Amino acid sequence: MRVVLLATPEAGKGTQCKNIVDRYGLVHLSSGDILRRQRAESTDLGEKAQTYMDSGALVPDGLIVEMMVSAISKTTDAGFILDGFPRTVNQAVELDKALTGNSQKVDIVLNLEVGEDVIIDRISGRRSCPQCGAVYHIENLKPKVEGICDNDGARLIQRPDDSSDVVRNRLKTYHQQTKPVVDYYKNCRSEIEFYDIDANEAAGKVKAFIFEKLDVLVSV
Ligand code: AMP
Repeated sequence: MRVVLLATPEAGKGTQCKNIVDRYGLVHLSSGDILRRQRAESTDLGEKAQTYMDSGALVPDGLIVEMMVSAISKTTDAGFILDGFPRTVNQAVELDKALTGNSQKVDIVLNLEVGEDVIIDRISGRRSCPQCGAVYHIENLKPKVEGICDNDGARLIQRPDDSSDVVRNRLKTYHQQTKPVVDYYKNCRSEIEFYDIDANEAAGKVKAFIFEKLDVLVSV
């Protein structure tokens, strides 16, 4: 099964990806995670991606497509879930081409959406541990000691791409470049199953909806 998970920022796609991976054994390919690993290892790609990521802009398509097609080529028949990719129509078209070349296709696209006020609140209140990556929120998910990671005692930081002006830039980027991907799958690829999902709903309800749709595909 090959799944594409599209989402507005902060729609809980990380949580839902984990649910899906745990239940169906798919390989989780998150473009954001792969890029952050490349940066941590100071690779050429990581260095090229840095300025774009820190400003809330998208990394150029050429770099991303090569990175993701290479990651996909290492997956097995069990399938995969793409998280954060494709994020432009061009990426979606290139993904289709790469899959078609291997006699494969995307089976289902899930589109998680939350409202803009929720997005801004969630991102600007988020704090992260620079050592273990744990994520907190200043109101909704506080650490035991303010500003300190529960796991390793490191001082929590606001990721450079979580500051409020960067958040606004990420939203603009989403509307200009990623929303058209939703329309592409809805209008141009009618043979692929597509679902809009209201991610303001409780995470458990969203999970149940997703499982209902994926269970059908698995049993076909
Ligand atoms: P994420 O963790 O998915 O929000 O990704 C973090 C950042 O990585 C984004 O704000 C972009 O700068 C970059 N990025 C992740 N995925 C892509 C993609 N498919 N295309 C371009 N840039 C990406």
